[in-house]
Amino acid sequence: MYNLPDLDNFIEVRPGLWRCTIIWPVAVGVQVPVATFLVRGDPVEEGPNAAHDWLLIDAGAPMQVQTLLRAIDKVLSHEKDQLRYICITHAHIDHTGATPALLEKYPEAKVVIHEDEKPFICDGKSFRSCMSDTWTFTLLKHFSHEADVKIPQDRTITLRDGDQWEFDHVLKFVETHGHTPGSASYLHTPTRSIMVGDAVMNIATMPLLSTVPCISGPMAMSTCHWGDAMKSIDKILSLKDQVDTVFPAHDYNKDGLHIDHVHQFHNPCK
Ligand SMILES: [Zn+2]
Repeated sequence: MYNLPDLDNFIEVRPGLWRCTIIWPVAVGVQVPVATFLVRGDPVEEGPNAAHDWLLIDAGAPMQVQTLLRAIDKVLSHEKDQLRYICITHAHIDHTGATPALLEKYPEAKVVIHEDEKPFICDGKSFRSCMSDTWTFTLLKHFSHEADVKIPQDRTITLRDGDQWEFDHVLKFVETHGHTPGSASYLHTPTRSIMVGDAVMNIATMPLLSTVPCISGPMAMSTCHWGDAMKSIDKILSLKDQVDTVFPAHDYNKDGLHIDHVHQFHNPCK
């Protein structure tokens, strides 16, 4: 049914950038692909087969933790490979699920998250407390998912636009809020690829529940501020001189989206 080469396994989609897609049975009869990404950081020793530091972007849904851990093990196969950071695009349950298990397995690892998103993974803050600019979220937020994890404060680092961090030379932090108060994207500068979480999606809308890819903005019922979410797509498009490929977290394409296609979706008359 899902003809993706990276189903349940990481595939190197760009040099130094791997994607793994796991199908999330979100409700009876509703299945959503959820992508996580591995980024190879710096070598930790010299030599052709050196171990590396690794970064993970998003941590999948809770019911697929074991599948994700197995997939990570296959890529981080050197005994000295280290997962250093789990970079979260936003705190919804389908992007944070394996975080506690990964922090336990990799005692040196820390979570990277936007300052405004941290309360949802550390303090139990509910997305239902968010003020919205749409009736859709205001009425349906009670059916939306929460973070459902409790991450220790001292295992997180928070970032905002322009903040430098240890792996800034590989992965730049870009604020793209709107879907949630602190949703963010990560720009893999060596391959001109940006992982945008739910800021842009590419799954079926029509026919519903098919596997026909279709570019859209984030899902309205779980998007706190629609106006800001649209501005964030503008912001992603404004990075065109640094970006070729947009990788949504929910994507039926095997190779992400060319930024021009996102532009055509968002600005159909230009
Ligand atoms: Zn999502």
